[in-house]
Order: sequence, then structure tokens, then C-alpha cells
Amino acid sequence: MDATPSFENFKLNKQLLNAIDDLGYQKPSLIQEKAIPLITAGHDVMGVAQTGTGKTAAFVLPILMKVKYAQGNDPRALIVAPTRELILQIEQNVKELAKYTDLRHVAVYGGIGPKTQIEQIEAGVDILLATPGRFMDIYLKGHINTKQIKTLVLDEADKMMDMGFMPQIRKILEVIPVKRQNLLFSATMPEKVVKLSEEFLEFPEVAEVTPQASTVSTIDQVLYQVPNVKTKIRFLEHLLQNEELSRIMVFTKTKTTADNVFKYLERKGLGPVRVIHGNKGQNSRINAINQFREGELRILVSTDVTARGIDISMVTHVINFDVPIIYEDYVHRIGRTGRAENDGIAITFANKAEMHHIGNISKLIQQQIPEEKLPAEVEVAPTDRNEQREIDFELDQIKRKNDPNFKGAFHEKKRKFRDDKKRKPVKNKRRRR
Ligand code: ADP
Ligand code: MG
Repeated sequence: MDATPSFENFKLNKQLLNAIDDLGYQKPSLIQEKAIPLITAGHDVMGVAQTGTGKTAAFVLPILMKVKYAQGNDPRALIVAPTRELILQIEQNVKELAKYTDLRHVAVYGGIGPKTQIEQIEAGVDILLATPGRFMDIYLKGHINTKQIKTLVLDEADKMMDMGFMPQIRKILEVIPVKRQNLLFSATMPEKVVKLSEEFLEFPEVAEVTPQASTVSTIDQVLYQVPNVKTKIRFLEHLLQNEELSRIMVFTKTKTTADNVFKYLERKGLGPVRVIHGNKGQNSRINAINQFREGELRILVSTDVTARGIDISMVTHVINFDVPIIYEDYVHRIGRTGRAENDGIAITFANKAEMHHIGNISKLIQQQIPEEKLPAEVEVAPTDRNEQREIDFELDQIKRKNDPNFKGAFHEKKRKFRDDKKRKPVKNKRRRR
């Protein structure tokens, strides 16, 4: 290949080069440079690169090349991703890159009835984009002829594993032709995904851009020890006084916290702000994301499930209100900022228990997150009794994990606590995720 990276080197057809031009992509990103020739050559490929590095185009471009022009009625490429937001976003990419071709694409996902989606498929499709569940639903109803599928993409493979999509993926693999090209893309490559890849990739070529789980270098990371939720809220409010924080994503562990943070910020007039999580209707989620993308919102509060992989560029700050329980999510969260070579800042709040997880995250990303002291203006609130119990419980769990002989003080307390009828048991609270 030519020494200077250029889209021309991929021997893409004119229609695609023009679309790339319209999008303003000047040169292929590293993952595109590595993956596109491998995919074009027909290999099974496992593509690993940080968030925001253009993995979507890395698989969409070669697929568009292969599928080339509208033909027959049945899909010849299948792209699978874990959430509807992600499917919609990949669809947007397909739409932009295929705009000078006559290729037909259909996106199917849950949350709305399948009727229109089925009609679209029956009208003829070249590229099908689907969440696993909805694909199987429509397939079982008899509306997808899979015989022509020659390429399968699993995007955000690591998340699919975490979200327990594995049984559905296996079903999909059973109903599509055995002779096909498999592409698997992910920002992180935990052991589980490697196992999956062994299950269905044939002698894959690995296109890996950086050591796994490394974070993008344009992101400044900073960590604050914040003892409890109340203080976290106060600190967040303090940070938001700074106008440089103009487009912010706030991540929380639970839907409840997401809602609470949202309500607080709204009440204090610190927005415009919206919240997205798994309990929000599909339209509400899409509207919020669009509004945020268009710059109509200052803040988007979200749980990990809804935020995964969504490309919102020019986010100035990512705030981790809570430390993610799934460590890879840290990489994904902070990947929302610093996308496509913009600078970004990622701020993490951690209570005492969460600091242990930070230790593990540091190992994963192979770097220490610089820590700063909570500013003096932020008054530290006392920790609420229930919250203290949760923190103690978590610390107990961590110690137990590290030392199987450790007998925590928590058992006794917990029993006593259960007898206390006036208060909600800790266990229930922990389950509300
Ligand atoms: P990933 O899937 O790796 O997280 P995306 O595919 O969502 O990343 O791409 C992130 C952003 O980078 C998108 O806005 C996309 O349009 C843009 N992008 C992709 N390829 C290029 C390129 N070669 N040059 C400039 N921007 C690009
Ligand atoms: Mg992606």
C-alpha cells in the first residue's frame, strides 16, 4: 500500500469516495487503515480500537464495496449491535456513505411494533441492521430470507457479552449461512469476547490499533474522592458554574440516580438537561440524543446501557457521577469526549468503596488517573445511614474477594437491619439497577 494513508488506496468506487469527501474525512483512521484491506481481502476480522476512532466506517465501507448495488430482495449483509440507539447510529453512517449508491438498507430494533420494519424488508433490502432480539422475532415470523447473507458484523461485541445477548447471537449464527465472512468490532477485548471470537471467527485477522482498553490520549482524566451522593451533587453543581463546561455527559450507575441527578439539575436551572436510561421510551431517548447532538442541551444524564457507542462529538466533559461496575465501561464513557481528535476532559467522582474499583480500572487502562482534592468551596455533607451501609457492604464484598478468610462485620449488621421494618432493606435497594 501507498505510504501516505488515503482512502484512494482502498480502491473504493467513486460513489463511496465522493460520500467520504462530503463527510469531510481527509484520511482513514488507523483502524480503518488496518481493517479495510483485510475485510476487502475476505478475511474474518476482529477489529479493536478505542471509541471514537471510526470503527463504523471501517466495516461499513468494505461492505458497501462488496454489496455494490441493489440486487434481488434479500439481505446480503447483516450488521448486529446491542441497542437500538447504536443501530440507528450505524444506520446513519450507512446512509451517509451509501448516498451515491442505490443500495437499500433497513434497520430493525425493538421498542416499536415490527410491522413497518417487516414491510421495509419485504420491499427489498441489501444491508440489514438489527438488534439481536428483533432480528430473531422477524426471522421467526418468516420475513427474513437469510440465504444470501455473506457478511456478518457484530459491533460492540464486548457489550453484547455483558448484556447477555450470547444465546440470541448463537441462534442468529444457526440461521444464517455457514459460509460467510465474520467481522467483530469492539473497543475492548475482554476474555469473554476472545472466547466468542474463537467460537465463530475462522482464523481471524486481528486489526488492533492500541493495547486494549487504552484511553484516547486527547482526554484529560481527573479523579476526586467524594464521600457520598449529597456531596457528589454539590460538587457537580459547583463544577457546572464554570461555563467552559458547555456540553456534558453525566454517567450514573443506576436509573434512580440518573433521574435524581436530572431532577436536581433541572430544578437548579443548570441545563438545558435531559436524562436517558432503559426505562425511558424509545422516542424520548432518541429525541434526547438528537437534541444533545444538535447542541440544544448542555447536559445529558445517562446510564451505561443507553450511552454505549453513541457518537456524540464535541462533548467537552464527561462526568462519572459514579464509577462504573463494569470496568470496560470507563473506557467507553470517557470515549464520549475527545472524539475524532477533539480535546476532552473526563472527571470521576469516587466514594471510598469506589476507590477500590478505580484501582482496578487503572490496571485495565494501564495508567494512573491523576487525583485532585475536592475544592474547599464544596461543603462535604454527612453520609446518610443507608448509603453508609451500602458503602460498607461493598467494601466488605471487596475485602472478601481479596481474602477468602475475611469475616466481615456485615453479616450481623445486615440481619439486624432486616428486622428493622421501618427502613427498606439494603438488598432491595442494591437490586434496583
Ligand atoms: P467508534 O465506532 O470507533 O467509536 P465511530 O465510527 O462512531 O467510532 O466514529 C466516530 C466519529 O469519527 C464519527 O463522527 C465519524 O463520522 C468520525 N470519523 C470516522 N472516520 C473518520 C475519518 N477517517 N476522518 C474523520 N472523522 C472520521
Ligand atoms: Mg462504534
